[in-house]
Amino acid sequence: MHLNSPPQRAPVTYVPVSMQKQLAANRRAIAGKPYERFFLPEIEVPAEGARLLRAGPMPREQTLTPSIADLGRLIDHAPDFPDHGYALLDGPTAYAQSRVVMPDVTTGMFEWWFTWHPIEKERYMLWFPQAHVDNSVVDPARLADTSLSYAERLYDNPNAIDEFIGPSSLKIVIHFAPPASLGLDEDALRRAGLTTSASGTIRVADAPDTTFMVMLHLARDTRAGMELFSRYWIGAHPEFVRFPGGRDAPALLSRLGMDTDGIERLAYEMAVHDMTEFAQLGRILPDVFATFGPT
Ligand code: ZN
Repeated sequence: MHLNSPPQRAPVTYVPVSMQKQLAANRRAIAGKPYERFFLPEIEVPAEGARLLRAGPMPREQTLTPSIADLGRLIDHAPDFPDHGYALLDGPTAYAQSRVVMPDVTTGMFEWWFTWHPIEKERYMLWFPQAHVDNSVVDPARLADTSLSYAERLYDNPNAIDEFIGPSSLKIVIHFAPPASLGLDEDALRRAGLTTSASGTIRVADAPDTTFMVMLHLARDTRAGMELFSRYWIGAHPEFVRFPGGRDAPALLSRLGMDTDGIERLAYEMAVHDMTEFAQLGRILPDVFATFGPT
């Protein structure tokens, strides 16, 4: 295969029944919207990514924790990790990771997407037609205010999400936050060219004071397109004590009845969800931005 040829894609052949039904509801919701033609349910994933995920959990030495030291390792060695993977970590914690290159996408488009899509839940459905249900922010006027910077619009503007991760519904609130507040070294990010972040802590909707999940999306522009590195930790990792209410995560896990097996299944489902939605976003974003982005 030539180095520059695009990665082979594989159609997604398994969709949980709950997501099949959601697709029908989303199709009705989006009918008549000006962006309806970008609602493309024939989802595909990179064939190699699918192979990596179905080979089983990653070896522990290839995984990272949300410690400050490991976040530093991520910044300095981001491309050295497998492009897709999942694992069960201490806590227990579901861990998922990915590296995605999106041809014809820039970090500017990616930042725009994060300020544009939560304004209407149907826009969010474009990103994953079978899995995305609802999306809103506390202050939509600020999110839409183009006189403000990306950081001013996104941070401290809690983002309520309703989506399926595998067969299970997940209702969460994302608190997007400045990278430094999560323990990411801003100078190191700059040196690595990772100029864009859509990262934060996440709480479940009915336990709004307990960090239950930490998510990183770090991106840079390359000649091949935008390169995105993502990490998810979901559960009760010991390092969560660094984050708001993280100390209460173990109690929350037991209240939710999530055991080690369930957490490991969630890690795999999160990795599949991430791989699918970022393949889809890479496919639609250049055209969506060209049509609805700033002129
Ligand atoms: Zn999603």
